[in-house]
Amino acid sequence: MTGTSLSSKPDRGGQAAPIVVLKFGGTSVADPKAMRRVAEIVRAAAVGGNRPVVVTSAMSKVTDGLLDVVRRAVAGHVNGAQDVMDGLIERHRAAAAELLAEPARREFDAVLGEASGNVTDLLRVVSRHPGTRLSLQDEIVAQGEHLASNLLALSLRAEGLPAFWVDARKVIITDEQHTRAIPLPDEIAAAFAQHVAPEVAQGQIAVLGGFIGSTLHGATTTLGRGGSDYSGALVGAALGAAEIQIWTDVSGFLTADPRVVSEARTIARLSYDEAAELAYFGAKVLHPRTILPAVAMGIPVRICNSREPDAAGTTIDDRREVSAQGIKAIAHKRGVTIVQVKAARMLGAYGFLHALFEVFDRHRTSVDIVATSEVSVSLTVDDPTALPAITSDLGALGEVQVEAGYAIVCAVGEGLRNTAGIAGRIFGALSGTNIALISQGASSTNLTFVVSEKDVEDVVKRLHERFFESPAPTTAPLAEAGARSKA
Ligand code: ADP
Ligand code: ASP
Ligand code: MG
Repeated sequence: MTGTSLSSKPDRGGQAAPIVVLKFGGTSVADPKAMRRVAEIVRAAAVGGNRPVVVTSAMSKVTDGLLDVVRRAVAGHVNGAQDVMDGLIERHRAAAAELLAEPARREFDAVLGEASGNVTDLLRVVSRHPGTRLSLQDEIVAQGEHLASNLLALSLRAEGLPAFWVDARKVIITDEQHTRAIPLPDEIAAAFAQHVAPEVAQGQIAVLGGFIGSTLHGATTTLGRGGSDYSGALVGAALGAAEIQIWTDVSGFLTADPRVVSEARTIARLSYDEAAELAYFGAKVLHPRTILPAVAMGIPVRICNSREPDAAGTTIDDRREVSAQGIKAIAHKRGVTIVQVKAARMLGAYGFLHALFEVFDRHRTSVDIVATSEVSVSLTVDDPTALPAITSDLGALGEVQVEAGYAIVCAVGEGLRNTAGIAGRIFGALSGTNIALISQGASSTNLTFVVSEKDVEDVVKRLHERFFESPAPTTAPLAEAGARSKA
């Protein structure tokens, strides 16, 4: 326990202190050292006059491990599944041994025992009834955030912070689409008002797992991989937070994926639209839906580095600024499939495109890019699960061709579409590369195109070099660049 005193009712001259949501990703809670850093970040927020609310991911790699557990059970290897699960439980137990003293350690041991027992029971059911897979998969995979949030709440208390654990499944209410559930904002707001807001008003620090929720009937759901960011934003919207902070392992939103471009650098500010486009087109640092609740409530989102808490990071809000380079960042997404429907006589016919999109709708598959020519329509999808059924249904509309192995590249910047010469500079940097499709999207903030997956790293590197690493950009400085845009 450290000596910092936190008043039980943070107050600013009679006004309640602002609520700030701090969401920590897997690497930020990967081990005891990381969890102690989290405690210091939370303490700094509280001492700085805010009321922190904490949302945490599972410890890093735990969700992958739990999915492995499910896969083994579905394949009938219950013992193997149990071994992997035991390893995950042990990892949490070892972390708790470093972070907690009695009686907190015993309290967490009880949580571990219950989780382990539940999963053991579920594994048997999964192996016998693979048809129940998705609902039980959510039940099992949710244990990652369940355990991390319990452990984090107890370790914050051990560090002298007035933390209390909230079962995310009581407050993040969703529809019934297991593994990719859609949150129900009104129900979430009501649940937070009942179960979280009163304690937060008293100066308590709520800690809950991201990514997980439950249906109105109490079945556990998850929000899709990387969904803890989304939870953070949902919590922020439900509590009327002043800011949503996403704490991760990089210093903010970078000009490109740092795993591909080592020269990528932090972008100080992005608009909601820019961040949403980048997240949607593959910038993993933010789950694609995170921005929605923030925009709805006008809450700024900040991306921060938990290993470098003092680094500036990136602020995302409703301000729109045109950058001197013309683009602010490049995102890319692998694993894209092009579906082409050739229907020479039908294409111009009334209702054709409606019938085409209805097929994708029916199979709950979203389409990213659409390009039409006189005789064909090409579309891209990144979730191939329903493609066999989609292809068969599309057969009624024309000749269908499906080709996997593509990647989407997306250059993003406010005013980009209206800034003279940008497309020329982008495609000029890529001479010699085959561009399969170019987006006809309506957004003025992005230019999106499709290349072969094998070319994508090279394309992203070349674009980054052209726009961010060359000496002084040839476009006008900020004010002038804005004035030059035709918007
Ligand atoms: P967390 O576990 O904290 O949610 P993620 O792994 O989901 O973290 O997201 C952070 C990672 O996103 C970074 O380590 C980086 O590799 C990747 N990333 C991809 N594109 C970008 C980008 N444009 N800016 C920052 N990070 C990016
Ligand atoms: N733990 C979940 C995942 O790995 C959610 C998240 O980390 O955001 O996908
Ligand atoms: Mg993430």
